[in-house]
Amino acid sequence: MKLQNILNNTNLPKTSDIVIIGGGIIGCSIAMHLAKTSSRSITLLEKNTISSGATSRSGAMIREFYQTDFLIEMAKESKNFFEKSNINFVKNGRIYLFSKENNESVNNNAKLNKSLGVNIEIIDKNQIKKLIPEINTNDISLGLFEPDAGYVDSVETTYEFAQNGINNGVQIFTNTKAESIELNKNGIQSINTNNGKIKTKIIINASGAWANYINKSINENLPIFALRVQQVILKGNSAVKPMNYCLMDYSKGTYLRPDYGNTYIAGEELGYEENDIVSPDYYNQSSDYDVISGYKSRIVSRLPSFDNTIIKSGHAAIYDMTPDANPILGASPKINGLFYAVGFSGHGFKLSPSIGKMISELIINGKTNSILKKFNLTRFTLKNLILPKFPIKNPNN
Ligand SMILES: Cc1cc2nc3c(=O)[nH]c(=O)nc-3n(C[C@H](O)[C@H](O)[C@H](O)COP(=O)(O)OP(=O)(O)OC[C@H]3O[C@@H](n4cnc5c(N)ncnc54)[C@H](O)[C@@H]3O)c2cc1C
Repeated sequence: MKLQNILNNTNLPKTSDIVIIGGGIIGCSIAMHLAKTSSRSITLLEKNTISSGATSRSGAMIREFYQTDFLIEMAKESKNFFEKSNINFVKNGRIYLFSKENNESVNNNAKLNKSLGVNIEIIDKNQIKKLIPEINTNDISLGLFEPDAGYVDSVETTYEFAQNGINNGVQIFTNTKAESIELNKNGIQSINTNNGKIKTKIIINASGAWANYINKSINENLPIFALRVQQVILKGNSAVKPMNYCLMDYSKGTYLRPDYGNTYIAGEELGYEENDIVSPDYYNQSSDYDVISGYKSRIVSRLPSFDNTIIKSGHAAIYDMTPDANPILGASPKINGLFYAVGFSGHGFKLSPSIGKMISELIINGKTNSILKKFNLTRFTLKNLILPKFPIKNPNN
């Protein structure tokens, strides 16, 4: 089946060995990895279209730098995958900026990342200026430079993963909403959708911020909430000095990355207020002008020529947040045959190849590897949260 025929695929199977809920980057990566190594029948259900959730708005910035050893390993494996794939990975490098209060944690995190083989260097103000001559470094103490980082196109990549899965036998059904799960004494018996029922013993919930919708029917509530975040698209012109790197500014709490057609995507690093917590089905998907023009002002105070950019557009999207801002992965502690890959808290895109591989190995071999164990749902009740040893502060947290 060709990808463009997905919409016409209405023949829901009566049975399927494995059912994946959610056609974002995570569901599609799991489908792709499963189909590569397993001959079992795999069905992916997506209530809208492929890549219509958080994935569609993703900055899709790829990096290896993390503040925890196992997340570094996952990010490295994923970046390796992107590099070797057919996906257009723009490796433009990433610069991180920090004020003085972060000196110690940056030094410790740089050591940790380098010891695990990440190509990253601490850079001083002069080196930062060499990379970006117009930059204002008044409030900056030091930076990090990760030359092998970059970005991909989030939607194209998701379709590439989906097509890969289809080539190996995955059946994808869009406009198909998973409504409820039926259980028997052994675990999962079937899944009900708006297009009919599928008998199955294995379900993977990869439905992002909507994860608790399907979980209502089995009474397992996940600690996930939808957080509304905003982005602004800035249009450059000849008066704007081109910024070719991805820029993560921990001092001003903003990020910026170049995009197609002389445009830039900018947003805010994590930090939120109570009224940013929304329903994933009913939230304002437009941007608030004061918020996105505030992003622009912060960018201009860093890169003065950006005063000449125009605000082309803005929008809001959602992060599926968990209490420690890390995903819930692996087997449900309560229901045999149910697996989770949800709660990516705004950083799941870059990890998607590694997640797809680990979840598919878990399902095929039945073994939870030592990394996957750390992300189990039980960590929230056992108070085993995933927290960085040397946290980096930003003005929004
Ligand atoms: C503005 C923004 C910028 C980001 N930038 C980056 C970045 O630079 N780098 C990075 O690594 N990460 C980034 N992220 C995070 C990353 O994009 C997400 O973590 C990732 O896309 C989550 O993918 P997902 O498949 O889990 O969720 P989603 O993309 O939300 O997919 C879930 C899918 O499930 C479907 N679904 C839900 N319920 C049902 C149901 N009952 N039945 C059937 N289908 C259902 C939804 O329609 C949706 O398509 C960003 C996110 C946002 C919002």
